[in-house]
Amino acid sequence: MTRVAIALGSNLGDRRAHLQFAISRLRKILTNVRISSIHETTPEGVDGPQPDYLNAVVAGFTTLSPIVLLQTLLAIERERGRTRPSPRASRTLDLDLILYGDEVIDTPELTVPHPRYLDRRFVTEPLEEVW
Ligand code: ADP
Ligand code: MG
Repeated sequence: MTRVAIALGSNLGDRRAHLQFAISRLRKILTNVRISSIHETTPEGVDGPQPDYLNAVVAGFTTLSPIVLLQTLLAIERERGRTRPSPRASRTLDLDLILYGDEVIDTPELTVPHPRYLDRRFVTEPLEEVW
């Protein structure tokens, strides 16, 4: 079993429902799940005005490989109608793999630890609650 941390974000539609859906899905694939409080944050590094985000971090243990875990996260996003019209566009649900044990991964599909997460208070603050 490997300890993992996943960052959740939503700023489109019923944000709380999207996060709760993600948490219920993550409970099926992780054990010893810990869930941070939900933080409301102003979008960072986006081009135009965007609705505020709800962010949270979920930690737990998994037997899934990093790439299978990533594919599972992307499938959960799709279940909430996630589209990618442009980089950093508003999204119903964003699930990012922040930490996978102490592994360092740098492939075209997957970078872990997630780049720049240490600069993002919307990740570090909820992460501190569960890690
Ligand atoms: P972002 O979350 O940075 O706004 P997206 O959610 O649109 O970007 O994800 C685009 C791609 O980023 C994914 O298809 C995935 O292959 C890649 N990616 C690389 N590293 C990670 C990671 N640690 N967690 C999630 N996606 C990642
Ligand atoms: Mg993402």
